[in-house]
Amino acid sequence: MSTLGCKVNQCESAGIAEALAARGMTLVPFEEVADGYIINTCTVTGRTDYQSRQLIRRAIRKNPTAAVLVTGCYAQRAPEEIARIPGVRFIAGNTEKERIPDILCDMTAGVPRILVGDIRKEKGISRLGATVFPEHTRVFLKIQDGCDAFCGYCIIPHTRGTSRSLPPEEVLERIASISRAGCREIVLTGIHLGAWGRDLQPRADLATLVRRIADGCAVERLRLSSIEPRELNGEIIALLGTSGTVCRHLHIPLQSGDDGILAAMLRNYDTAFFRNLVRKLYTTLPGIAIGIDVMAGFPGESEEAFENTLRMVEEMPIAYLHVFPYSRRPGTPAATLAGQVSEEKKKRRAERLRAIGTTKRQSFAERFIGTPLEVLVEGRTDKNTGFPVGFSDNYIPVAVRGGVAPNRIVRVMPKAFRGGHLIAEVIRE
Ligand code: SF4
Repeated sequence: MSTLGCKVNQCESAGIAEALAARGMTLVPFEEVADGYIINTCTVTGRTDYQSRQLIRRAIRKNPTAAVLVTGCYAQRAPEEIARIPGVRFIAGNTEKERIPDILCDMTAGVPRILVGDIRKEKGISRLGATVFPEHTRVFLKIQDGCDAFCGYCIIPHTRGTSRSLPPEEVLERIASISRAGCREIVLTGIHLGAWGRDLQPRADLATLVRRIADGCAVERLRLSSIEPRELNGEIIALLGTSGTVCRHLHIPLQSGDDGILAAMLRNYDTAFFRNLVRKLYTTLPGIAIGIDVMAGFPGESEEAFENTLRMVEEMPIAYLHVFPYSRRPGTPAATLAGQVSEEKKKRRAERLRAIGTTKRQSFAERFIGTPLEVLVEGRTDKNTGFPVGFSDNYIPVAVRGGVAPNRIVRVMPKAFRGGHLIAEVIRE
């Protein structure tokens, strides 16, 4: 199986893999010759469509007689396009992912070739996700799916459906079982995480859920994945500072530092709102890591609008940037806007933004040289030093000198920054 795209897709792939193993199938690396291949695709950009097609073709070349099954957001958006690739046996949309083990276990039972339903009509959330976590210290838990926001550039509401949430009791049960399995950090994830609970009866909200998790000490560390700026209310911000469980780290999509472009994107905030939010976060939570998403080359983005974004990103005290060149997605309002920016220009703008991101990442990490940090050591090593690496609660990659066993939270003193990591010594195990 090979998976592209977001953490929600990764969670679902882990669930599919577990379900297949439970039925006696042996999972082998994607590069090996296999009887079947699953490609869990992404369609967020034209590039991820292309990468999805490359993976499909690679699987077919490996074994032309294999049962090649394509699923995920690209399969949901364009099943007919995928069906034209010779050698594709099954196409399953996002709502049909739970049926994949059945399809692969009983291929003779007249399963239709294309199984893609109308995802906007889907009311329930798929429970697909791993329940066993060998060698994991940090686990992503999908608690929400779908999105109702319809930002102008985004195809995701069409491929993931309306916002649906995992009920709070189920979230708490899953957290308890992940914790019992020995994992120390859980990352709550969703397509539109801040919308969690709005569809539930009775209605619920993310802040209350996070408080329940933190108060119940259900897990040592809790991290929130990407969250929209308008959904970061005072209660969530307070929990980051006071709970001792919720990590000092937020990933907030900005997308543009120009008010005209933000309005054309159909985003529900302006630059003044975003600047105030970042200021408030830094005042309330010194040391917080704020990562932001920025898009380069949205239709109508003039040189001046782009310079506004550059300036805003440079001025804000952020920890890192994720930069995406705008990708024209059929069926979205932005696809038909005038003033589409050339690929060359988008690339140049994205490069300039990424250069700022690299500097920001380093200067944020260097601020913590000489300041103790709590690091969850993972099972990987830094290729430059050979030291075990992990993440601080404020999401700085740290290489820890000495032989610290994985899956432990240690207090360290950072001494230097090299090769993308803080290099630190243990001060308390
Ligand atoms: S909030 Fe906007 S960008 Fe995010 S998934 Fe929903 S529509 Fe897409």
